[in-house]
Amino acid sequence: MSHVSFLDQVYRMYEKAAAHTKHTDGIIDQIRICNSVYAMEFPLKRDDGSIGVVKAWRAEHSHHKLPVKGGIRFAPNVNEDEVVALATLMTFKCAIVDVPFGGAKGGVKIDRRDYSQTEIERITRRLTFELMKKNLIGPGVDVPAPDYGTGAKEMAWILDTYNQFTDQPLDALACVTGKPLGQGGIHGRTEATGRGVFFGIREACQDKAAMDELGWNVGLKDKTVVVQGLGNVGYHAALYLQEGGATIVGLAEYEGAIHNPDGLDVKDVVRHRKETGSILNYPGATNIENSVEALELPCHILVPAALEAVITTRNASRIQARMIGEGANGPVTADADAILLEKGCMILPDVYLNAGGVTVSYFEWLRNLSHVRFGRMNKRFSQSSSEKVLRAIEKGTGVKLDETLIQEAIAGGDEVDLVNSGLEETMSAAYHQIAEAARKEKTDLRTAAFIVAINKVAVAYKEMGIFP
Ligand code: NAD
Repeated sequence: MSHVSFLDQVYRMYEKAAAHTKHTDGIIDQIRICNSVYAMEFPLKRDDGSIGVVKAWRAEHSHHKLPVKGGIRFAPNVNEDEVVALATLMTFKCAIVDVPFGGAKGGVKIDRRDYSQTEIERITRRLTFELMKKNLIGPGVDVPAPDYGTGAKEMAWILDTYNQFTDQPLDALACVTGKPLGQGGIHGRTEATGRGVFFGIREACQDKAAMDELGWNVGLKDKTVVVQGLGNVGYHAALYLQEGGATIVGLAEYEGAIHNPDGLDVKDVVRHRKETGSILNYPGATNIENSVEALELPCHILVPAALEAVITTRNASRIQARMIGEGANGPVTADADAILLEKGCMILPDVYLNAGGVTVSYFEWLRNLSHVRFGRMNKRFSQSSSEKVLRAIEKGTGVKLDETLIQEAIAGGDEVDLVNSGLEETMSAAYHQIAEAARKEKTDLRTAAFIVAINKVAVAYKEMGIFP
């Protein structure tokens, strides 16, 4: 772990980008600072009757757009500095993918493996109550989502607790995203971050200029990948990369890692881990007992998707991958970033690459507020319009079109198709914005992503009449 705090790392990356902009120091300070952090400590009655104390934080980084948005993390090492750093990244992330929210983040300092399901439920409900008391949750103020150590189940408890106390039930579903499907969730949210990671990496691999710089062919087909963390983000990223044609040669979890240069089947590795309780001893693969060493395996693309500060000055020079896809937030420290760039690595930064989660959370929030499933109003209409066009072409040309192709072409989008195409478009457009800024400013993609974000937030402040 680097001695420089996570927040300082983020600030160093921010200042590097700010130097490329023409904003005054005051504006740069205003965009950087965290508006507020709320620290909580509350009691927990454990299953054995004893009382424990739980520490938690909610940081709201920027109110230039409302609501603010950011996940809630359950992790043993979480602290105020980390929560503020993550909230700061959220502001920039939302700006990069044009999601009209400010950034926020929550953290609860627990190792969830030490708690039963009912204890986790009590913690989550109490946390929601604490947030409600301070007006730090609500569809128009602050909307949490899953992050490390939390998922749809915790979001359902948050919603249920919020529903019990709110006097605004109409829009209550929009107080949290990443909910289960039956409780206002949206198709595609669970896998959204990992799918976005895949779209981003695929887009970069389609960028001829970028591939030329790396001396690589265009496309995913001949690429080998190592993924660290087989949780929500890592699992889905690995799965879609495999389905997209890449070869997954290494997978790392906290208990160890496995390596097979001929390729690993992601779903089967997860089945093996569930059955045996460990990723190790997967048939045909070599064990790596010290999991962190998997980051140094030979491969084209490395996707750290567990936690921050895993690539530091201690191991950066030994990283063999030339493309780093930051699935996790802050996996590369600022000093390690400099070493990797010096080595000619292309780093797809967290503020861009893992923005798929907040993008689809935005779609979920919109759906909750509009009280209608995407595609419900227009599916039949667009089907019949497309069919009319195709039949007119047949009539006009006298050529009978293939009926299967016609049926495929007129199939209107279901919600999941609309969500996935919205996500694909968002990740693709954001990549090109960042890549263009990088070329214009002759800088790396992270700095470019921060430049794009700073400029967008500055425009928002200007529109509000706050900055001249
Ligand atoms: P998760 O809890 O679902 O999964 C994390 C996985 O990492 C777990 O399987 C855990 O066992 C593993 N892990 C922990 N320490 C490890 C280590 N030292 N080596 C290898 N594996 C290790 O969490 P997640 O939601 O996938 O989040 C992972 C990262 O992605 C975090 O940095 C989070 O902030 C970021 N992120 C998540 C989302 C989201 O939608 N969930 C969105 C954006 C960013």
